[in-house]
Amino acid sequence: MDITLEATAQAVMERCDILGGYSEEPGQLTRRYGTQAMRQVNEKVAAWMHDAGMTARQDNAGSLVGRYEASSPGSRTLLLGSHLDTVRDAGKYDGPLGVLIALACVQRLYDRQQRLPFAIELFAFADEEGLRFHSSYLGSKVVAGTFDPATLRLTDSEGITLDEAMRAFGGNPDVLQVSKRDGSDILGYCEVHIEQGPVLESLNLPVGVVSSIAGQSRIAVNFTGEAGHAGTVPMTLRHDALCAAAEFVLAVEALGRSLPGLVATVGQVTAQPGASNVIPGLVILSLDVRHQDDTVREQACRQLQERAGSIGAARRVSANWQPLQPHHTVPCSLRLTQLLAQAIEAAQYPVYSLPSGAGHDAVAMSDLTEIAMLFVRCKGGISHHPAESVAPEDVAAAIEVLEQFLVLLAKEQ
Ligand SMILES: [Zn+2]
Repeated sequence: MDITLEATAQAVMERCDILGGYSEEPGQLTRRYGTQAMRQVNEKVAAWMHDAGMTARQDNAGSLVGRYEASSPGSRTLLLGSHLDTVRDAGKYDGPLGVLIALACVQRLYDRQQRLPFAIELFAFADEEGLRFHSSYLGSKVVAGTFDPATLRLTDSEGITLDEAMRAFGGNPDVLQVSKRDGSDILGYCEVHIEQGPVLESLNLPVGVVSSIAGQSRIAVNFTGEAGHAGTVPMTLRHDALCAAAEFVLAVEALGRSLPGLVATVGQVTAQPGASNVIPGLVILSLDVRHQDDTVREQACRQLQERAGSIGAARRVSANWQPLQPHHTVPCSLRLTQLLAQAIEAAQYPVYSLPSGAGHDAVAMSDLTEIAMLFVRCKGGISHHPAESVAPEDVAAAIEVLEQFLVLLAKEQ
């Protein structure tokens, strides 16, 4: 029995609502790694995987892995997935939507009693956001085999180590390497995710193909001047660190606006000593710079570093520049991305390609195999917020595109 696309999309929406009800905080959605709420969603999604003709198991880190067998044994495997953990006071779609759309496609295959010339493995990663232990891509790094065992010593706000939390969650940190996916039979990894930005909405498009996941530089910038009495130090004799910082913030914005594709943000500013009647002596600010071309990003950072120096010199305020570990750009697979574009055409939607400014499990999975991503329009570009919203029609479009993608990939086998 085949059910319509609209009904499938509606079922996905309802499942997003159901998972959105599993939270560790009353009145808002927060689902950190290893919590009771994560246990509940894993149980729920495992049951849905069984209903869709899949086997389901939890790996040694606690990620859920569903498998739908191919038409014949010994075939290769396509990996699909996203994450089930959330940020604090989250929306319902960041992560779960990708898992549930992939699951819906498998359900539709199973309803038609159809097998493909490749198996499908669906990963519902247990920790992508890193809210509890400040680790990133925990679940997918274990699967890709790039997890750093030193991470197990990280502690949460209650002093519980990741090692302890993993054991309590039914995982086994001693044998995480067993959960590394063998790469030899994999066709690639494809992740469906909400865009988390306003681009698709501005173009009136339901879905978009991700070209790459943009690299990121994070830099701690300090301006050190001289604190002084707001009433007694004349304007001409001041070394106001906050005025230097303000000039720098505007320079960051101006550079971001002048280079296509560049986004540059000062998100945190702390002024010390921080009193209404004291001239700020020290300002600490955060700088975040992203672009899909690593060379452009690095060049932009060098320009901003020079600018911080010249602004400081003119005001006799010293500027200190401390880069944190950068992330390089992760390109999506040309082969899989072209297939996704063909799938969008086959579903009769316009093809639009865009970089991802946010990181995803696909970044970690790129160490294991070729990756592709499909973005789904979200309302107002809002994400990591309870107002996160997607339209059922767009979910239907994403299901249809992923289904076409499976058909096209099947033809290639
Ligand atoms: Zn996400």
